[in-house]
Amino acid sequence: MALYRTEAIVLRTRNLGEADKILTLFTKERGKVSAVARGSRRPRNHLMGVAQPFTHSTFLIFRGKNLDSISQGTIINAWLYLREDLLKMAYASYIVELVDRLTEEYDPSERIYSLLVAVFERLCNDGLETRLVRFFELRFLRLIGLDPQLEHCVGCDTVVTDTGHQLRFSPREGGVLCPDCQRRRTDALSLSLGAYQVMRWLSNADIDRLSVLQMPEAVADEVEETLRNFINFHLQRPLKSLEFLYTIRGTS
Ligand SMILES: [Zn+2]
Repeated sequence: MALYRTEAIVLRTRNLGEADKILTLFTKERGKVSAVARGSRRPRNHLMGVAQPFTHSTFLIFRGKNLDSISQGTIINAWLYLREDLLKMAYASYIVELVDRLTEEYDPSERIYSLLVAVFERLCNDGLETRLVRFFELRFLRLIGLDPQLEHCVGCDTVVTDTGHQLRFSPREGGVLCPDCQRRRTDALSLSLGAYQVMRWLSNADIDRLSVLQMPEAVADEVEETLRNFINFHLQRPLKSLEFLYTIRGTS
């Protein structure tokens, strides 16, 4: 029988018929998969708990001809705080939407799975949300081969790590530009040395050392804006979760 067991995080759910849900899961062994959780919208149904967004569970999944279906599920961590605190929920929604939008089904990556688990585990630490989300973006982009180039100029490959010059960032070309190359581009964003250093630090950071990072608010805003522009360049349409996040924060 085509039955398999896997740990997974629920990225997204959508209703099917009157009582079912289709879950989009990021599994430990198979990458992103979709499976139906039959009856999971009925009160007291045994799949109701595991069919909630962000939930981390072990699933027993039956491989169907057209659609896989979940036969059993056991919660490992429901991460209730991600649903109880609106700001954390907004960040978690952004993270799962980014993974959903930039990964293909059945493209396994245990490292993306582990990154998701590690980031959700730490999202309960107040004050670390912003740097955790930036860390997630940079690490996730690297895992899917889309990380911004920060050490060499994307125009001429000159090393820019120790530059004292004003750098610019090109979302289209995917990295920083040296002063020479900036002159020939009009679409590159200015990037302060502080924001550049934070991005470099975050892209090599250990997730458990994020609290030592000094990041003034203006720098945090600049890093967010730079990565937002870069990520948007790779998406066909805007992320829905960002509207929710901006509403909760009262900013854009
Ligand atoms: Zn250059």
